[in-house]
Amino acid sequence: MNNDSKPTINSGIQTKYTFFCHHCESISKVYVENWVKNNEGPYKIELIQHEGNAAIIVGEININKKPDGELVKFHYCGDCGQMIQPPVDADYITIMGCYNPFTSKN
Ligand SMILES: [Zn+2]
Repeated sequence: MNNDSKPTINSGIQTKYTFFCHHCESISKVYVENWVKNNEGPYKIELIQHEGNAAIIVGEININKKPDGELVKFHYCGDCGQMIQPPVDADYITIMGCYNPFTSKN
């Protein structure tokens, strides 16, 4: 039996991390600007989506060759455009039950 129906994302890097936007209060699309310190712009943008709680890099936009220097990453919510926190461990969110979009705020 070969039930291998899931498409393989060749360039996708499976992570165990989750990006959470506190503005939208949701886990959604994220884009990550990759900068090198003291440069004028990002050299690469990573596009991230979530499968369950796991962040997956679904695409990369290469702008320039990576310059030498210290890498700095900025994470932005793909929905509201706000800068968001660095990713948290997906297991941590699962264990803590932090992610519940239906939680009442009262
Ligand atoms: Zn957001």
